[in-house]
Amino acid sequence: MRTNFVCGNWKMNTTRASAIALAEACVVASRQTPSVRVGIAPPAIWLSDVAATIAGSSVALFAQNGHPAASGAFTGESSYAMLKEAGAIGLLVGHSERRQLFGETDAVVATKVAAARALGLEVILCVGETLEERDGGTTLQVVNRQVDAGLAEIATLDGITIAYEPVWAIGTGRNATAAQAQEVHAAIRSRLAIRFGAQAAAVVIQYGGSVKPETAASLLAESDVDGALVGGASLDSAAFGSIIAAGAL
Ligand code: PEP
Repeated sequence: MRTNFVCGNWKMNTTRASAIALAEACVVASRQTPSVRVGIAPPAIWLSDVAATIAGSSVALFAQNGHPAASGAFTGESSYAMLKEAGAIGLLVGHSERRQLFGETDAVVATKVAAARALGLEVILCVGETLEERDGGTTLQVVNRQVDAGLAEIATLDGITIAYEPVWAIGTGRNATAAQAQEVHAAIRSRLAIRFGAQAAAVVIQYGGSVKPETAASLLAESDVDGALVGGASLDSAAFGSIIAAGAL
């Protein structure tokens, strides 16, 4: 049996004060809905403050990005050890904004996933097709390629969550339908089973892309949708709380 996992990706938003306030609200929401796992991914600069705020709660702290090298001349980057020391227990890898705006290839994603797992950090591996790819009928091909490539350097699915995030639904207000999400989630699980066997049945596969309180319940009701990765709506504590609550229905 999989536990629904709802994680907020705050992207490059919040002030220190608003991040702490949002984190406090997430602790309350998580206590109100204990059957759902709650995570938050604040900007790296607020990780320590947020870690202190959520200490003692079951809210899981994720980084949005990190550099897989242990240390060195990588101006502006944070190593995974640094993120861990700041309180993160995992990080997002392969988010479409990292792929599209920062040129992260499948090979880079694979290196990042392997380095994170080697340090014991959880990974939320994001995959998803563009509108052009969906319209061209290659959604499953693209997603399978990203899943295979992203996990190429690891031997087990321990510590791995997959987030299916159609690029055309991120920050656009346009949601995949529950049926569209279920189709791709089931395909991802089948793909994982080819390489990882029975472990695939236990892997949490989140849906991400303009998830809102109004759409969360129908998405999360699908059998292979095990939670949500939430961008915009996670910045509104009431909306995020409603999405978490939808995971318990
Ligand atoms: C995301 O950034 O992972 C995301 C899904 O964003 P939004 O919910 O705003 O579409």
